[in-house]
Amino acid sequence: MADQKEVRVRVAPSPTGDPHVGTAYIALFNYVFARHSGGKFILRIEDTDRTRSTRESEEAILRALRWIGLEWDEGPDVGGPYGPYRQSERVEIYKEYAWELVRKGRAYPCFCTAERLAELRAAQKQAKQDLGYDSLCRSIPPAEAEARVKAGECHVIRLAVPDEGETIVPDRLRGELRFQNALIDDQILLKSDGFPTYHLANVVDDHLMKITHVIRAEEWISSTPKHVLLYDAFGWEMPEWIHMPLLRNPDGSKISKRKQPVSIDYYRDIGILPEVLLNFLALMGWSMGGDRERFTLDEMIAEFSFDKVTLGGPVFDLEKLSWLNGAAIRELSPRELLERLKAWRLNDDFLLEVIPLVHERVRRLDEFIPATTFYFAGDLDYANVPELVPKNRDARETAKLLEAALEIVDANPNLDKEILETRFRDLAAAHDWKPRELFMTLRVAVTGRTVSPPLLESMQVIGREITRRRLRQAAAFLKGA
Ligand code: GLU
Repeated sequence: MADQKEVRVRVAPSPTGDPHVGTAYIALFNYVFARHSGGKFILRIEDTDRTRSTRESEEAILRALRWIGLEWDEGPDVGGPYGPYRQSERVEIYKEYAWELVRKGRAYPCFCTAERLAELRAAQKQAKQDLGYDSLCRSIPPAEAEARVKAGECHVIRLAVPDEGETIVPDRLRGELRFQNALIDDQILLKSDGFPTYHLANVVDDHLMKITHVIRAEEWISSTPKHVLLYDAFGWEMPEWIHMPLLRNPDGSKISKRKQPVSIDYYRDIGILPEVLLNFLALMGWSMGGDRERFTLDEMIAEFSFDKVTLGGPVFDLEKLSWLNGAAIRELSPRELLERLKAWRLNDDFLLEVIPLVHERVRRLDEFIPATTFYFAGDLDYANVPELVPKNRDARETAKLLEAALEIVDANPNLDKEILETRFRDLAAAHDWKPRELFMTLRVAVTGRTVSPPLLESMQVIGREITRRRLRQAAAFLKGA
């Protein structure tokens, strides 16, 4: 009889940045497969990187996935029978499992210091050898290792990867992928602060949460043999592996914020309808059959099969997305479109952010819309605003400063006014620009105008995603000029 096990899949984002379109993409395929199979879709937060994970990022990811219309059955906010669903709350569990592997002889404590590892690396580099840990501590007799741990010596726990043979990853879309064990490092499973690494936490959780299919992006393929080794070491049954093709920039490189916006919030802010974003992501590597490009989530669920996934790198193309969105907008009734506009920016909350910034600047109500267009517009046109480049400065140099300003914005996602003001002033000083020059350049980049309401407050209202985009576009415009 066929396997009757309930399908359980998960999306497992690390809350270390903006809600990424790649996360929505992977969430979509997990969600659709779960719904198609009558199974469960789980959201797990992988926040074991203590320096980079933040609660704000977690909240933004949850908000973005909900906005796009993917609800999870189990997760950190809705609970479920296999919680907690936030890895930082499961640290004791990983420790136990790491030690279980040590007892089984499949993992070992490693006492090598950072200095030793650095020396080893330098020596390997010099000798043009593969870089990696040389398994020195694997030969410490277990009793001695245990005594050293008990005595409080600083250590990590590493997986004892077999020196020979190969590890096979059966991938639903790619067949059997083979990896030479000799090329796999003895992975760290537990760090010296007692926190697990991605590999350990991911495998332990997928097992304990009874995940049946791991549907994730292609970029994790190189991790999967390590996971297969872990399943083997624990003696657990593996899930099925399905590595989806990576989203790409139009130039074929892996999608990245250097080339185009990757935050789901950007697409929300420019007025892409959530169901269109889902439709568009569905087309990345999957097809409904025939040349049908427009379909709903429910239609995708009904028709879903991994056989229709194609592996050629799907291109995340903003033009195509805008085209799909336009087609969807045209099908709305005027009243439906009105509702969408309200949900977007034509609502009291947003208008009440805009109004204080122009309150003193309008004499008549009919001046309000002309005075505020840039709060509602997407990309701006810089061709007729030569003040983007200050007098006696050149375009390339100005583009550099815009890119530096973009980095400042990136590093201060809350767009804190005081911080931005100081950083921008420092930036101007560092390049021997007058603050006035830099602020004019930024004003033109962000508002398209030489005279505008207060710049930093305007950035906050426009939002970080569109602010970033305009800084980047203005720099690109100057580089092209
Ligand atoms: N935490 C990983 C991520 O950020 C999860 C990868 C996986 O699905 O195993 O995508």
